[in-house]
Amino acid sequence: MQGQTSQSILDAIGNTPMVRLGRIGAGLQCNLLAKLELHNPGGSGKIRSALAMVAEAERTGRLRAGGTLIEASSGNAGIALAIVAAVRGYRCICVTTDRQSPEKIATLKAFGAEVIVCPAAVRPEDPRSHHSVAWRLAEEIPGSWFAHQHGNPANPDAHRTGTGTEIWKQTAGRVTHVFCGLGTGGTATGIARALHEHDPAIQVIGVEPAGGLYGEFKRGNPVPRDRIPTHLTEGIGEDMLPEVLDLEELAEVIAVPDRDALLTTRRLARTEGILCGGSSGAVVAAALRWCQSHRPGPDTTIVCVLHDTGTRYLSRIFNDEWMKENRFVEERGGQTAGELCARKRAEPDAIPGLISVSPHSLLLEVLELLRQHEVSQIPVVEQGRVIGTVKEDRVVHLLIRDPEAKGRPARDVMDPPLPEVEPGASIETVSDLLREQPAVLVRTRDGLDILTKADLVRMIARWAT
Ligand code: PMP
Repeated sequence: MQGQTSQSILDAIGNTPMVRLGRIGAGLQCNLLAKLELHNPGGSGKIRSALAMVAEAERTGRLRAGGTLIEASSGNAGIALAIVAAVRGYRCICVTTDRQSPEKIATLKAFGAEVIVCPAAVRPEDPRSHHSVAWRLAEEIPGSWFAHQHGNPANPDAHRTGTGTEIWKQTAGRVTHVFCGLGTGGTATGIARALHEHDPAIQVIGVEPAGGLYGEFKRGNPVPRDRIPTHLTEGIGEDMLPEVLDLEELAEVIAVPDRDALLTTRRLARTEGILCGGSSGAVVAAALRWCQSHRPGPDTTIVCVLHDTGTRYLSRIFNDEWMKENRFVEERGGQTAGELCARKRAEPDAIPGLISVSPHSLLLEVLELLRQHEVSQIPVVEQGRVIGTVKEDRVVHLLIRDPEAKGRPARDVMDPPLPEVEPGASIETVSDLLREQPAVLVRTRDGLDILTKADLVRMIARWAT
């Protein structure tokens, strides 16, 4: 046929868009880009490796007409194989775990796959695990072929010839860093191999869920045998090291807590208009965190791989009730000052305790504490009693006019103490006090704590995400 017609949906695989994340990356000096693998047929990058694995099995005669494809998949690989099976006329059995979203299972069935759901919370060698069940079926069913994405070299190779090569071309060779989720590790390994052919200095950084094992392997730490994954970010993190994952190709592995991953996923939809899954959110969260600590300049071009579409997670990540049940978004109202302090202390970047100075501390030391902890006021404490507050604006005002004042004690420039509330005080009381004061002190069971305007802004912004 003339024109631009493809033979089948399989010809629409690859050449996915690369877009700038200009809103979520606002204020960064580097280029923050996203490779939209979710734009592939079936809604994920897994279709690249599925087609490559099937083509290889056909070529080598391991898969013949009328055969059965079997895969132990977290969902997307199964969906991808189901699509290839539908187009090429094979039967497809997908053995998956009960950690997958209902949408993934429904999608598998929509493409005509048979689905077997196994418990996620068992070790891979357990006969009930999805790996064990898939191997058993492959032995039992005549004419079947187990795709075995975790050990099949065609998986990373599809990303070397496809995804990685596209990243090099689309960035005109300017890519310096790639952040990529690690499931089987096929995507990251393939991308790294393609890019390292051009420039071995390009860093490919793997992203796994908090509690994942790959980072431990990468750092050469002993890996506990009995760790059972509990994360809710789907598609990344496995309970064993897959053969296709080449950790040597990765510069490092960053672990991202579910909360950061899923809230970033929601932000991507609301600020960039990109509806992707939780592993993509984890990748962007890792890249943003890396940018905070490395402060990359305009010569740095970061590519974030966005693995799959968010339509698979409408009942989870994009469902407020599910997010609240799992305590990823907080319910409004009903909070007390004590609860707000506890929540603040649980943040990953929280300052461990209350920062205070003595009335004799010199302004030079006070200034250093203000700078180091990025706070705007510090209580002045004498023998366990709060006797005043040193405020950033007053210290700065004084030091600009009189540099010698850096040798003066805090006592000389302190304001009266901040108001103090009981831990049972309501958030409304705290917010009323913060209209007049920069912060309030809270006398909790563990000692004195502080809630600032910035703390409240952060918490309210979180409810709004
Ligand atoms: N994200 C999602 C949502 C996935 O399904 C997968 C595949 N399991 C990945 C990331 C990681 O891909 P890979 O298996 O190539 O490491």
